[in-house]
Amino acid sequence: VKEQGKNNFQFYTSEMNEMISKKMKLEIGLRKALERNEFKVVYQPQVDVCTGKVIGAEALIRWHHPEMGNISPAEFIPIAEETGLILPIGDWVLYEACHQSKQWHKEGCPPLRIAVNISSRQFQQHHFIGTVTKILKKTGVAPSHLEFELTESIIQDSKHAISTMQQLKDMGISLSIDDFGTGYSSLSYLKTFPIDTLKIDQSFIRNIFTDPKDASLVSTIINMAHNLDLKVIAEGVETLEQLNFLKQRRCNEAQGYFFSRPISAEEMRGIFQNQSIT
Ligand code: C2E
Ligand code: CA
Ligand code: CA
Ligand code: CA
Repeated sequence: VKEQGKNNFQFYTSEMNEMISKKMKLEIGLRKALERNEFKVVYQPQVDVCTGKVIGAEALIRWHHPEMGNISPAEFIPIAEETGLILPIGDWVLYEACHQSKQWHKEGCPPLRIAVNISSRQFQQHHFIGTVTKILKKTGVAPSHLEFELTESIIQDSKHAISTMQQLKDMGISLSIDDFGTGYSSLSYLKTFPIDTLKIDQSFIRNIFTDPKDASLVSTIINMAHNLDLKVIAEGVETLEQLNFLKQRRCNEAQGYFFSRPISAEEMRGIFQNQSIT
């Protein structure tokens, strides 16, 4: 029990202590992870719903901590964002994904689109455009083969966000809104922001057959997107029934365990090479 002022006691349970020390351990580990080469990037195929062809892949970071083992990005990305470590980590993921994309191309794969998650903090940096330009130049990747997945939180600083997005669009990079429908923001940004794609959050897809409201939401998002000339991709597609539902409603693309879990660059190359033959 720690005393804070006169009547103000704060109780720390051992569980809370454990949580705090785990978070501290993760933060200390994160500071060293880049130089120790503990990160890698895995790739999850993104499929054209109409043709069934893989048209791209999303890059997802993985971290293997020497003692704690594999740590989920859902756990360490928020800590990286809080501490600012997301800036060097985010730059590393972008470089790695672009470098890999060029590598696949050299190995005879047709050029495919790579989607990279960009955290708000990374996007709001003043030299973000400069960093992107440098990485594209260094790796020789065509901007038209790159897509950035942004969350609705970037819309908070709307003036800066629009101008950065427009610069990225002018370079030829596509932009999608990740986890669409979970950000509680007004929809009006859809008419002012230069966006190409809405990515329907997996929480809606999960329940389309158990919750009729989720089914209506998914149908409504697809129709709205098409009326606004935006493409739609569904994430978290795990079953054929879910895929058929999306196909019937003319969702453009899908991604999820039904097609493939996130896989290594080598496994992804196999998929890309098979595509070029068919
Ligand atoms: P996200 O961007 O929404 O990525 C989708 C997450 O859903 C990924 O989890 C993916 O592995 C998982 N997933 C894909 N298909 C299915 C499916 O059919 N069913 C289920 N249940 N899950 C599926 P992951 O890789 O653990 O990443 C979690 C989150 O961490 C990501 O959510 C993203 O917000 C963040 N993240 C991952 N990599 C990066 C990165 O390089 N940079 C940044 N800023 N964030 C990242
Ligand atoms: Ca994403
Ligand atoms: Ca998502
Ligand atoms: Ca998510």
